[in-house]
Amino acid sequence: MKNKIALITGGSRGLGKNMALRLAEKGHDVMLTYNTKKEEALAVVASIENLGQKAVALQLDVNNIGSLTQFVSEVSTILKEKWDTNCFDFLINNAGVGATIAYMDATEDDFDRLMNIHFKSVYFLTQKALPIINDNGRIINISSGTTRFCNPGYSIYASMKGAIETFTKYVAKEVGSRGITANVVAPGPIETDFNNAAIRSNLQLKERLASMTALGRVGEANDIGGIVAFLCSEDGYWINGQRIEASGGISL
Ligand code: NDP
Repeated sequence: MKNKIALITGGSRGLGKNMALRLAEKGHDVMLTYNTKKEEALAVVASIENLGQKAVALQLDVNNIGSLTQFVSEVSTILKEKWDTNCFDFLINNAGVGATIAYMDATEDDFDRLMNIHFKSVYFLTQKALPIINDNGRIINISSGTTRFCNPGYSIYASMKGAIETFTKYVAKEVGSRGITANVVAPGPIETDFNNAAIRSNLQLKERLASMTALGRVGEANDIGGIVAFLCSEDGYWINGQRIEASGGISL
């Protein structure tokens, strides 16, 4: 599979950035989105171009559900202008934020924000993008280990990620006739900027999570991008409707 085009939400840093680079290394072009970090996103674009692939960075706020139609129309325009095509191949719904909110403190505003970012935007962006995803394409939704084990304070976040896991199976079932697969990658704790760099800034937490993990450490972004690239490869095609947890074996 050569020179396919991926759309990665939240590709300016962390896991999305690593996915973008790992896909580019495999010879794919990338459209990545950023919310606030335009400079970082442009630096990722430059790295992809250095690898010999085409890339663009587009602004997207997945908390703004009303902007999704306009965003998909912008993607169509870019595809035509930069690639002379109407469709792309891999949709990777990765953008997200962390928030530690004790269940008894959670408000409707917290709930609605995390629902928009982690579930509603993924549901409707996928729906709106499907007409411009090529047959035999791939949809990969990023969930979390916290749907299998509980991390106090993650009740809203993990519930939305759980919804993504159910949604992914329905997408796989309903678009399988087009040869499109849909899968979930569920990372364990990864040391990124996520949730105010919760792991990087708290050595005690990092050591506790490492001690809960069979491979003896927390994850890094580079542990995840290659899994997404594999799912987008020919060899990954027969995996469909699955949740793949990538955690080094946490809480086994
Ligand atoms: P980072 O904080 O490092 O990066 C988050 C990315 O999402 C950035 O590109 C950011 O854009 C983008 N983003 C944040 N808010 C919005 C928004 N409202 N609209 C659009 N884009 C947004 O996080 P990670 O890379 O660690 O997380 C990526 C995904 O992985 C998330 O879905 C997260 O839930 C999931 N995950 C992470 C784990 C971890 O431990 N790190 C564990 C399990 C799952 P910008 O840079 O422009 O602000």
